[in-house]
Amino acid sequence: MADSVFTRIINRELPSEIIYEDEHCIAIRDIAPKAPVHLLIIPRKPIAKLSDASGEDLALLGHLMLAASAVARQAGVEDAFRVIVNNGAGAGQTVFHLHLHLLAGKQFSESQLGF
Ligand code: 5GP
Repeated sequence: MADSVFTRIINRELPSEIIYEDEHCIAIRDIAPKAPVHLLIIPRKPIAKLSDASGEDLALLGHLMLAASAVARQAGVEDAFRVIVNNGAGAGQTVFHLHLHLLAGKQFSESQLGF
């Protein structure tokens, strides 16, 4: 399968401002932000979607959540942010390389989970 756009960003084949990175993941600003702060936390491992992850990814999935928290702190939005994963085209996934959306900087309604 061809490399995803996120793998190409990770490999520096496509330009993007990488605002955080460690040995397991990177974080970038979403190119089409849906909130004043809209960041993507992306594992270096190209898992297509969350439902493709397995037991061997247990630590990696936890790491992504902690990275989201660290990135929120770095962006100064640690008190109020939302993390979303779209799994599958029917749920709105368009890039088939697992990623966490981190959204902040606006008021989210309690009942509305979408962005
Ligand atoms: P999904 O719809 O798969 O959950 O989210 C994919 C996200 O990636 C979208 O919010 C889209 O705006 C963002 N995106 C797609 N291509 C690029 C890109 O080349 N650079 C950046 N920074 N974001 C991208």
